[in-house]
Amino acid sequence: MGAKLVKVVLLRDGEVIARVKKLSGFEQEVTANEAVKEVLKETGIPHDNLDYIVATGAGPADVFQNMMTYGLFTGGLGLHYGAERAGLLVIPSGAGNTGRQLRLMKDFRTTVLHATPSYMLHIHARLPEEGFRLDELNLKKAYLGGEPYSENTRRKIETLYGIRVYNSYGLSEMNGPGVAFECIHQDGMHIWEDAYHVELIAPDTGRACADDHEGELVMTTLDREATPVLRYRTGDITTLLPGGCPCGRTHRRIARITGRTDDMLILNGVNVYPSQIEQLLMRVPGVATNYALTIEKVGALDRLTVKTEVDRQLFTGDLSALDRLKTHIAEAIKSGALIRPVVELHEPGALPVFEMKAKRVTDLRPKE
Ligand SMILES: [Zn+2]
Repeated sequence: MGAKLVKVVLLRDGEVIARVKKLSGFEQEVTANEAVKEVLKETGIPHDNLDYIVATGAGPADVFQNMMTYGLFTGGLGLHYGAERAGLLVIPSGAGNTGRQLRLMKDFRTTVLHATPSYMLHIHARLPEEGFRLDELNLKKAYLGGEPYSENTRRKIETLYGIRVYNSYGLSEMNGPGVAFECIHQDGMHIWEDAYHVELIAPDTGRACADDHEGELVMTTLDREATPVLRYRTGDITTLLPGGCPCGRTHRRIARITGRTDDMLILNGVNVYPSQIEQLLMRVPGVATNYALTIEKVGALDRLTVKTEVDRQLFTGDLSALDRLKTHIAEAIKSGALIRPVVELHEPGALPVFEMKAKRVTDLRPKE
């Protein structure tokens, strides 16, 4: 199959979205016709999630608290259904509200968590403030994904909580979370090759690279009928690990994702492109064209600051008008990109001007 498949043109992100929308009719209106149901079935509920929950040794004795966002985002429901099928009791707590998360963990004797690594660190830091102690909880495992993290961060979270942490890789274009998942040996993530054909390419040439070389992961769905996706360029850089795994599974394993081929940012597990923020920003009346984005760590969480120039006539001394504009901008970005930024307004000419390619993003998060 591989030799014939390389003749198929490679797909990039925007193209998949355009095709899925065309097929589903989402652009006009979501109606419950059979085609839409089929698309939702295939894009929202990955069948493989049962396999990886079993691969980590979890089962009917476990209580699974799913702290990912529910709704049309695949992170929530994807693992929810997998955990139910594996027999776990599922607490659909959704994202955020740390005090309530801890209350649920204590009351339901939660054993398995699903979250981003930064949120796990955030919860730990908030324990005393929220009035909980670790020894009141019954945690045993966490499935962490949604953003890249290092082996050091894994070990740190394992030590802080006294649990085992399993790395999870997924993307909405390929069904959501759990496209690849670690088994109990925690040595690379098995890609479910019965559902996905996997290639590694050199991002600059698009040609295949050797398995033990770092390359961009390209995936093809093998079991979708309504929305098959051929040779999708994930933009994620990884390596295929050599040799078998002591667990006996023959699905090959990928190493941790080490980077991206494009300028996509990941903030608290949410993917966002600078161009997306720009579009949302420029739609707000009064916003001028020059802007800059800064990302930093505040505690365990990522914070986005949007600095933007606004029309000079807004600086009249009326602070309430400026405050309203700030809120308007923050809400526009939150509703369009799912991230609530801190907004700073500047007079025209206050931000740096670039003669060549503008450097809009400053990422101050520590590199691990
Ligand atoms: Zn294994």
